[in-house]
Amino acid sequence: MKQTINIFWFKRDLRTIDNTALTKAVKENNKLLLIFTFDNALLNDKHYTTRHHNFINESLYDLNLFFKKFGCKVHSFEMNIISLFEELKSKFNIEKVFSHMETGLKSSYDRDLKFKKYCNKNNIEWIEEINNGVFRGLQSRKNWILNWNNYMKKKIRVFNPKVEDFVTLNKKSQFERKIIKPKKSKFQCGGSTYALQYLETFLETRIDKYQSNISKPELSRINCSRLSPYIAWGNLSTRYIWQRAKEKLNHGKSKFQINGFTSRLRWEAHFIQKFEMESDMEFRSVNRGYEKLDKNINKTHIRAWENGETGYPLVDASMKCLIETGYLNFRMRAMLVSFFTHHLWQPWKAGVVFLANNFLDFEPGIHYSQFQMQAGETGINMIRIYNPTKNAKEHDNEGLFIKKWIPKLKKIPVPLVFEPWKLSEIDQEMFDCKIGFDYPKPIIDISKTYKFAASKLWTIKNDIEVKKESKRILKKHTNSDRTAFDR
Ligand SMILES: Cc1cc2nc3c(=O)[nH]c(=O)nc-3n(C[C@H](O)[C@H](O)[C@H](O)COP(=O)(O)OP(=O)(O)OC[C@H]3O[C@@H](n4cnc5c(N)ncnc54)[C@H](O)[C@@H]3O)c2cc1C
Repeated sequence: MKQTINIFWFKRDLRTIDNTALTKAVKENNKLLLIFTFDNALLNDKHYTTRHHNFINESLYDLNLFFKKFGCKVHSFEMNIISLFEELKSKFNIEKVFSHMETGLKSSYDRDLKFKKYCNKNNIEWIEEINNGVFRGLQSRKNWILNWNNYMKKKIRVFNPKVEDFVTLNKKSQFERKIIKPKKSKFQCGGSTYALQYLETFLETRIDKYQSNISKPELSRINCSRLSPYIAWGNLSTRYIWQRAKEKLNHGKSKFQINGFTSRLRWEAHFIQKFEMESDMEFRSVNRGYEKLDKNINKTHIRAWENGETGYPLVDASMKCLIETGYLNFRMRAMLVSFFTHHLWQPWKAGVVFLANNFLDFEPGIHYSQFQMQAGETGINMIRIYNPTKNAKEHDNEGLFIKKWIPKLKKIPVPLVFEPWKLSEIDQEMFDCKIGFDYPKPIIDISKTYKFAASKLWTIKNDIEVKKESKRILKKHTNSDRTAFDR
């Protein structure tokens, strides 16, 4: 007779601490099989690249070090969930599946819908827990902040399993994927062990200069938490982070710094909630009125932006840094989007996947909402057209970030390094940087593109459909007083 078991399906919750679904699953009578699968939604979706797959591998490696004590591991596969269940069903009688709700792209949403049907048909109960305070089935944001706060304050249950709680597979499936030991790289390494180190060093000391350095491209790398990939892939829950941060208030940490940080944890949930309630913003402007914005693809401009060769040092340094390390602070991300959608006047749809590919912390809900917001296409937010030169002067005032990522500009002193096109022939000789050869001439003139974009965006803001849509968005996605939303 086949053994009756339950299954825990790891998704973007690659952790054991405050993993509600997992804690619940081990309390059941049936033994638990732990699985993860690199399915089509991960391997073939255009948003994901090797850096994401490696981060998941590292997280699974870390999980397996933990589960080794219990004589088990997370079995990892390279196949679709239904085929995997078909294979498992030939060995076991599966009673229940536990996982967290995923607010994902269309590819994972469709997968989950099919899996739900499969479970119903096969008499398998699929129990999904709320993830990071994002609620399913909401029609409006009434009481959302209250509910999110209550969720954050809930006591975290200790995960205390026993060896006999788990079952493992004796025979290796041909689809099982080997989880390899992480190699040293320029990206943050996945796994809760690393996540906890980032959290503790942040709350101990790095947070002291959080608010003052948050917009600086170089110093933000130290003084921001750098927890985003760990939150995006679920190596830590935002509730665990929130509670650890609030505890620090009792240890004399500044309220200003802690509250600035914890409010961003709420923004995380806010943006994902928005995507949960309106996921077709993956394919169209959240404010449908902006679909008629007249923008033509310019492949040369797109290539220059993607390669960090626009001739605007802060834009190029940010792109090169992102490609190399997978991370950028908020302001530089916003500036890259603004440059692309405003100064280059390119449609947001032509740039959104490229940044997703490169953000190690790619989180569909935040990414799509923020990209459209920075493109100025929501109709409800302030239009911000970033001036990359002004931003460089203000946030990289010694040019250290620029010089780090564009070594050819190393010898140019400030303020000329912010505007290298102003170098005279003699300067170019002296500083060993020939403009148009060692470093590109600006591909556009931002004083002209600023005026053009501003006029177009202000005009369309008064369009009847844009206004109608703005009202709809405000009603659906914000509180009546709009507190705490959409920064
Ligand atoms: C165009 C664009 C795309 C973005 N795409 C992503 C993405 O795919 N994944 C992602 O995690 N963040 C994204 N962000 C938000 C933000 O830039 C990053 O969360 C932040 O820079 C991560 O650094 P940190 O962990 O050191 O942040 P901290 O300042 O230490 O903040 C702590 C956490 O709060 C959340 N958070 C911080 N700022 C924001 C914000 N503005 N909106 C929503 N949540 C926030 C993140 O989970 C972050 O890890 C995007 C921003 C822009 C402008």
